[in-house]
Amino acid sequence: MILQDKYKELSKALGPERICLDEPLARYTTFRIGGPADLLFEARDTDELVNAILTARTCGVPYFLLGLGANILIGDRGFRGLVIRNRASGTRVLLQVRHLHAESGAIVYPDLIEAAVRHELSGLEHYAGIPSTVGGALWQNLHFLSPPPERDRTVFIEEVVHEAELLTEQGLRKKVGVDYFEFGYDNSILHRSRDVVLSVTFQLRRGDSMHMRSIMEANLAWRKQHHPPLDSEPSAGSIFKKIQDIGAGRLIDACGLKGARCGGAEVSGRHANIIINRRNATAADVRALISHVQEVVARETGSRLEPEISFVGEF
Ligand SMILES: Cc1cc2nc3c(=O)[nH]c(=O)nc-3n(C[C@H](O)[C@H](O)[C@H](O)COP(=O)(O)OP(=O)(O)OC[C@H]3O[C@@H](n4cnc5c(N)ncnc54)[C@H](O)[C@@H]3O)c2cc1C
Repeated sequence: MILQDKYKELSKALGPERICLDEPLARYTTFRIGGPADLLFEARDTDELVNAILTARTCGVPYFLLGLGANILIGDRGFRGLVIRNRASGTRVLLQVRHLHAESGAIVYPDLIEAAVRHELSGLEHYAGIPSTVGGALWQNLHFLSPPPERDRTVFIEEVVHEAELLTEQGLRKKVGVDYFEFGYDNSILHRSRDVVLSVTFQLRRGDSMHMRSIMEANLAWRKQHHPPLDSEPSAGSIFKKIQDIGAGRLIDACGLKGARCGGAEVSGRHANIIINRRNATAADVRALISHVQEVVARETGSRLEPEISFVGEF
């Protein structure tokens, strides 16, 4: 069957009124970059998410699951197939056992963190200010520095994951514990499988909401000082993977690359490991700047920088 026929079949199954055709994707990413998706569907709850994925698989239509689009670069020619935007965002608190249950499209900050703090449940407040859905957070094992004054270790979301429900490659819904994810730095089994996270139960601790709020405020202030502001300088956060004991940003800075530009893309002056969309940058601009930074850093320092973000669609 040719792609157009598969699209018609898929559109009929999901409801033509729920499908956007040729939908520009830039607005659904924090980089504000990306061409159109042939088809876009917004899943409002877990059942719709499961249905969209299974339907795409049955119809043989390539699909991409989109959270907040905070860790990806979408190509200028967009995505051939179906983009499923995950808006399944229900949450439930089980106070007695200190569980916070969230559908995978729930937004970590402010929605999830505010719910936790309201119930005096601690463990998620470290991630205040980071754009992420719950699914995206597990995909990349969301992390940040431990609270001040120490700031001497990295805290990872895996530390508070109790269990999750997945849609497996075989189309089954199953519950798994934290070990299943093989979490690492910026890494999880989700990079290597077609499993989709449907919901997550976080195991939190009793906490003092004033103390949690003070951590959130300190972390938000840290971000304001160290990161370019997302609303006026769109980005996808850190571009390159961490280099143990050196830091990718430090290497880029040492090579004098802050402020380097390709078209509308620019290495942030505030954080050298972040590329910002300065003025109508294209994905091609960002890719060219990534290559330039890699070349200069390799030549000057011998270190090879590897992108941390995912490249999605056609460039
Ligand atoms: C300004 C800024 C600051 C940032 N700071 C940090 C930081 O301090 N620490 C940090 O760790 N990250 C940081 N990031 C990166 C980003 O916030 C995280 O990687 C975040 O978890 C991405 O979530 P998302 O919902 O946007 O995922 P997306 O970017 O939409 O998707 C990322 C990947 O996850 C997959 N995915 C999404 N949902 C699911 C699901 N339900 N099941 C399976 N796979 C799924 C997608 O298909 C895709 O492959 C920052 C980004 C920005 C823009």
